[in-house]
Amino acid sequence: GRIVVAVDGPSGSGKSTVSRRLAAALDARYLDTGAMYRAVTWAVLSSGVDPTDTDAVAKIAGEIELTIGTDPTAPHIAADGTLLDAEIRGPRVTAAVSAVAAVPAVRQTLVAMQRGIIAAAERIVVEGRDIGTVVASDAELKVYLTASADARARRRSAEYATDVSATAADLARRDRLDSTRPVDPLQQAPDAVVLDTTEMGIDEAVERLRDLLQG
Ligand code: C5P
Repeated sequence: GRIVVAVDGPSGSGKSTVSRRLAAALDARYLDTGAMYRAVTWAVLSSGVDPTDTDAVAKIAGEIELTIGTDPTAPHIAADGTLLDAEIRGPRVTAAVSAVAAVPAVRQTLVAMQRGIIAAAERIVVEGRDIGTVVASDAELKVYLTASADARARRRSAEYATDVSATAADLARRDRLDSTRPVDPLQQAPDAVVLDTTEMGIDEAVERLRDLLQG
């Protein structure tokens, strides 16, 4: 039958790895909603628009043509035909993405697109910040992943080859912005299963979620 899994949590909680592995194990599609906010941010920065200029940012989000590949073994995203998978992970986009994601019109546009992709899939694992609370509040399984600030910073800096303490500071800044914005802040859905991956590790987290879906 139809399965939608919502995976939310802060950066570095293991969301992407867990979501992709779970999707592959379920023979499901995978949607990285963070990549969509990052792609809009990339478009904002490359057109020279100030990320805090709300109207200009909203206009770009409305005009950009996003193409999203949802194969969990090879996800990709393109804006107006340009593949952006590497570009959107860089420090410039990461520094500006929370401001862009706080613009209500940007969220409206991207949430509508995300719902369309979810509706078209038979099975899909969707990761982000507002999936269980807003985008797919009727998901069969909602997961909220956490990990200690330390573990999250270590994972991120290993992934991006960046300095651990600078990464920790950036994660703390982004968490604060993402969880205090007025529209669709990062929140635990009341019916979400909470998994702390600090000690558990990724493989065990994936196994737990598979068990929950079967049980
Ligand atoms: O998950 P990732 O770190 O790629 O997300 C980048 C940023 O996009 C987050 O810091 C957050 O500001 C925003 N985001 C969001 N809602 C989502 C996914 C990501 O606001 N569903």
